[in-house]
Amino acid sequence: MTTEQGVLEGVAELARRQRQGEQQLREAVRAARAAGQSWTAIAAQLGVTRQSARERFMGVDAGRHTWRGTEPGWLECVNCGAGRHEEDGEFSPVCAP
Ligand SMILES: [Zn+2]
Repeated sequence: MTTEQGVLEGVAELARRQRQGEQQLREAVRAARAAGQSWTAIAAQLGVTRQSARERFMGVDAGRHTWRGTEPGWLECVNCGAGRHEEDGEFSPVCAP
């Protein structure tokens, strides 16, 4: 192996590891979201603002409702408009806008 090949293989290896790390991070964020963690809490762990965390990983929420309180005790999904009482669990975790 020439030195030139060696340095290029180093670049390829690190790029591969970075992609792998990126996928693992995405999976971890998805798990955190599924466990009900807020973007604020996740962003704090990532060391970035809530806004950047959301923009970067927003896709992990695809297919899940995003509940927002519209009036006391009542939540509505901002994506599909489904509604539920705060005390109730999600009748269906699948969001189909
Ligand atoms: Zn929804």
